[in-house]
Amino acid sequence: MRNYIYKFIDTAVDGSAKDKVLLGGKGANLSEMSRLGFPIPPGFTITTEACNHFFNNNQDFPNSLETEISKTISLLEESLNKNFGSIENPLLFSVRSGAQESMPGMMDSILNLGLNDETVIGLAKMTKNKRFALDSYRRFIQMYGEVVLGIEHSRFEAVISNKKRIENKTLDMELEVGDLEWIINGFKSTVERFSGKEFPQDSNEQLRKAISAVFNSWMNPRAITYRKINNIPDTWGTGVTVQSMVFGNLNKSSGTGVAFTRNPSDGSKKLFGEYLLNAQGEDVVAGTRTPYPLIKNDQSNGSSLEEKMPKILNEIRTVCAKLEKHYKDMQDIEFTIENGQLFLLQTRQGKRSAKASLKIAVDLVNEKIINKQEALLRVKASDIENLLHPTIKPGTDRELFGKGLNASPGAATGVISFSPEATEKLSKKGMDVILVREETSPEDIQGIFSSRGIITTRGGMTSHAAVVARGMGRPCIAGAEQLLINYDEKIISNKEMTLQEGETVTIDGTTGEIFLGELETVDAEPTEDYQTVMKWADQYRRLRVRANSETIEDTKKALSFGAEGIGLCRTEHMFFEGERIIFMREMIMAETKQGRKKALKKLLKYQKKDFKQLFKLLQGKPVTVRFLDPPMHEFLPSGDMELKDVAEASGITFNYAKEKSLRLQESNPMLGHRGVRLAISYPEIYIMQARAALEALVEVKSEDNISTDLEIMIPLIATGKELSLIKKDIQKTCNKIQEKHKVTIEYKFGTMIELPSAALRAEEISKYADFFSFGTNDLTQTTLGLSRDDSAKFLDDYLDKNIFQVDPFVSIDIKAVGKLIELATHAGLAGNKDIKIGICGEHGGDPESIIFFEKIGLDYVSCSPYRIPIAKLSAAQACINGK
Ligand code: PEP
Ligand code: MG
Repeated sequence: MRNYIYKFIDTAVDGSAKDKVLLGGKGANLSEMSRLGFPIPPGFTITTEACNHFFNNNQDFPNSLETEISKTISLLEESLNKNFGSIENPLLFSVRSGAQESMPGMMDSILNLGLNDETVIGLAKMTKNKRFALDSYRRFIQMYGEVVLGIEHSRFEAVISNKKRIENKTLDMELEVGDLEWIINGFKSTVERFSGKEFPQDSNEQLRKAISAVFNSWMNPRAITYRKINNIPDTWGTGVTVQSMVFGNLNKSSGTGVAFTRNPSDGSKKLFGEYLLNAQGEDVVAGTRTPYPLIKNDQSNGSSLEEKMPKILNEIRTVCAKLEKHYKDMQDIEFTIENGQLFLLQTRQGKRSAKASLKIAVDLVNEKIINKQEALLRVKASDIENLLHPTIKPGTDRELFGKGLNASPGAATGVISFSPEATEKLSKKGMDVILVREETSPEDIQGIFSSRGIITTRGGMTSHAAVVARGMGRPCIAGAEQLLINYDEKIISNKEMTLQEGETVTIDGTTGEIFLGELETVDAEPTEDYQTVMKWADQYRRLRVRANSETIEDTKKALSFGAEGIGLCRTEHMFFEGERIIFMREMIMAETKQGRKKALKKLLKYQKKDFKQLFKLLQGKPVTVRFLDPPMHEFLPSGDMELKDVAEASGITFNYAKEKSLRLQESNPMLGHRGVRLAISYPEIYIMQARAALEALVEVKSEDNISTDLEIMIPLIATGKELSLIKKDIQKTCNKIQEKHKVTIEYKFGTMIELPSAALRAEEISKYADFFSFGTNDLTQTTLGLSRDDSAKFLDDYLDKNIFQVDPFVSIDIKAVGKLIELATHAGLAGNKDIKIGICGEHGGDPESIIFFEKIGLDYVSCSPYRIPIAKLSAAQACINGK
């Protein structure tokens, strides 16, 4: 029979990777720590299989689960000499979620379970502390009410605030026995009023329902959103840990906190964390009370744990060192001190900023704890991306509005918004938004994700906002306590001024400062650790990485990021600026070959000059020049001004230009007269481009002695015949130039594979090609029949219904588009064994897609300059994982 429960000390749990799949991260680690002798309150874990059974069977537990639970509880009762539901010496539990990967704060937990009107008296007697027992009971009713019965948080908060107001008290700590009794009665009435039933007194019922609620929290909207953002499958399910309670709210020698074995913001090897005395876990993370630091600092004034309880701090240090050594990574631990005794409640891989992630990976290699391959696997693509995020340009004039904790680094500018919903809405309209909240809660996840950065006025470095922002790479300023928010009026004020919703601020998460208005930002200087990681990535990757770039500026950027050439120079993009676009339009709208040639002659001048500059910059690195592929709708003149300019340049009347432009409009421009089809109709277009590229090559060689590795690439072909016709034209052009300059020109000729037809005819096409480059943007569009310009409007529905797990324009759709790529690769190699094959669609910079491209053995990927480091890292990771 299958076991649905494992005690923490179960010998079947052996610390292997399968434990996490079965028990979730929290359960697996609690077992492992128990076995290793760490001070863990005893308990057990209900498996993720039980959770999946629950969802597949109408929310029913597996048959044997309840019997297993009661047997395991009996064993715990015996070993702890306490009894679940007993009045004399009640055993209480925490019931907590824990998936394979930690999803901080996204699912639910319940503490102090087992308390009722009678056991609370027993707890008071047992601990000789009535206030504590009542405080625990009121916390339990509230958590149970919210999590199990779905009663709104504010209903309970209203009862507490009411009592505080009557008694003229501000802090929870000031509430006395009588106040707490009043609050408990108020809470019970609240439960009855909003759930229609009395608060349950039966401990077994409490436990059953709590377990169901924790299972159900796997499917709550914020957990679903978090999984979507982090690519976690719904099928994992959550484990549930049921652990005997230890109490941080017992007295002043008790407390609770979190510790990171290294600093999660900068990665330095220093213990870091926060705690609160006389408090329970949620007080620290909820941001409702601002916690104190573990380690003494200039401002701690005796409040740090180091100063208050030096012995406990030393124990924490020892525990942290041991845990880090065991798990070979920075850990984030949760602890409780009960009456001067330390207990661990959890350890997990600590979430960290991008900068910290790289530093920790490099340091762990230097400390010989992990090797380079392991270090490369530790760094996430998003870390690299976030690390290259901008900072405020040094020397920029700035006016400070406020300051808080530097909870997550990076600079961001945006309009302020006071609700996650508004943030999401504004960002969908394309605005940059800074989310401003007193504190955030897990419900706000989508708002945080939609924002450019976050400001909170309460909470510490381990508050929800800080942890989530660091994980997502959003700059965050937490606990800016001098600022006051008024949600009703949608304003935030410092002592002197007030900002309204919609006003612009710039935040610097690296310093914790908030500035008025928009400040100029600059790209971050890559750190030494970044350089080291990139060097290692170069050592372990097989795929070459090139850039999609046509401008000098982008190419410089790409080269500075280590691009190994240009894999896609979109020549139509070279004609966007100034008078070039007018000549381009003149060419498109020309009625006769002569008219077209006249416009092409003007374009040739620019084209050659641009190519020369580009070739010189590349210094012999390969450059793939993609010949014109202008979808009509992007290039036809729109509006009278543009029509006037074209009319003038072409020597035609305004009305004629207007009429011609209407005639050229297409119903399906993406499937229209673009790419190679233009050159089939008007060969002179590609002949001009070939001339520009080949002459540039010859001149760059004679002027600077640079041998350009030129690859001419033809877009949107469907058949071999198209390519063979173009190839002849280009070879003829080349022959003429060779004769004229008395030189031999070497260049490669190849094609994009962007249409299913091209993929299916790859063998025939490969006879005319030195290389293939998959244009996965168009190939996705044409394989799925999904417009790349319009599908965003309805793609969310497809993602919500799990038809696609991810946007197929972001990560390659392996089953259809991927299949065509694989098929075309084999066919291409069958037709031409020397053919080189790469990718130049957006997928070339996507980590998930790169795993696939590595697997099928492509030669290179090409992506936008900013994604080059990510592509290199992902290519190395794909290689390491593939071995
Ligand atoms: C593609 O289709 O993937 C491609 C790179 O070409 P473009 O995006 O210019 O159509
Ligand atoms: Mg394309």
